[in-house]
Amino acid sequence: MTPRRFQKINNSLLWQAILYIIKRLNLTLKFMKVQAHSGDKYNDMADALAKAGVDTQDSITISPMAIKTQKGYIMFNDELIIDRNIRKTTKKIINFRNIERHLSHKSLHHIKEFTTDKLINLEYTQDWFNYNPFTKATSQSYSKHVSWRIKCSNYALPTLDSLNRNYPDILKGFDTCFLCCLAQESNEHFWTCPESIKILKDIFMKHGTIYKALIINNLDHSKVDNPNNIITDSPVFSCFNLLITSISDAKDLHCILLNMIPSSIIKPFQDAKIPKKLTKKLLLLFLFNLHRDIYELLWKIRNTHWKQYKIDHNITKTSFTKRPTRRNERRRQNNNDITPNNPANDNILSIGYTNPFMTSKRNLDDSILWIYLTSSNFRHNLPWINSLYLDIIDSITYDQNLFYYNI
Ligand SMILES: [Zn+2]
Repeated sequence: MTPRRFQKINNSLLWQAILYIIKRLNLTLKFMKVQAHSGDKYNDMADALAKAGVDTQDSITISPMAIKTQKGYIMFNDELIIDRNIRKTTKKIINFRNIERHLSHKSLHHIKEFTTDKLINLEYTQDWFNYNPFTKATSQSYSKHVSWRIKCSNYALPTLDSLNRNYPDILKGFDTCFLCCLAQESNEHFWTCPESIKILKDIFMKHGTIYKALIINNLDHSKVDNPNNIITDSPVFSCFNLLITSISDAKDLHCILLNMIPSSIIKPFQDAKIPKKLTKKLLLLFLFNLHRDIYELLWKIRNTHWKQYKIDHNITKTSFTKRPTRRNERRRQNNNDITPNNPANDNILSIGYTNPFMTSKRNLDDSILWIYLTSSNFRHNLPWINSLYLDIIDSITYDQNLFYYNI
């Protein structure tokens, strides 16, 4: 096994230590299968030691410096040596950091609440963000759908409140909702406007019937005793039976509207013992059709009003583009302070926004560059450090005793 492969084994340090002991003491090892609990003296001793080890507070720390074959290591948070697949482990840490950074943004406090209340299933949500029902890997229609998902989930639909903020001289303060003509149009109002709710109710009634059929048709009869007892309803659909005036009146529905997948919509699939893989396949296609209707029957209706407004007020495309750009202020910054009190986090663009649910190379920033440097498969003969820019080399310290570098 090459050293690079060896580093991917869990507890690689422990395995290296065992190998070291075997070599050092010149031991010859022969593997023999011993039946568990068969009264074998040494197996019982090993068993007792393993059991005692679970309860003890002491742990054995293996110093990588003492293991000649271990050329270097990566330490997390100055306390733990990552002695398993480094790329996979760090990916997890980065994902958590991205999600925390994302949810710490002020305007996303609803989503943060939903997350801490465990209403959202993050695994399905991530699958949904990356879901592509089209035959091509990239296409204009796919981009349009992804853009819709992301804008909804960030409260970033171009509603009049934000257009006013960005182009105050064009709209001159006009921000009345096109649908009800009563309230200020904002992302939050758009999803709770009584006129929106009327349209949404029709859409959700239609798709509620499709949803029920999906569960009944795919129910596993060999595992479900009484299929009639399966609850095929979900609060996402039943919430329309009551009055919805705010987001907290229909939290599950709101999750769906923001393209976050609520656990409650998955539960009936689980109750019907539909396998996870099939559930995902059915549910993602279902959500795709549902959101296509929301886009076509609600957002597009709103947009026809907005287009008419622009015609009536002589607002053209150039009105938006001729304005002096303030792009410089929006340039991406490195900002690792994710606390809500940091004013730099008020503007999502200034923290170098990356959607945590999208798996993309764009999620890389300078602070995680080292992971790619240390885990790539460098096939050339030169030490990879030689191909780096000088200022990066200057920031790297390395241990004289080890061949690899610590960054
Ligand atoms: Zn309204």
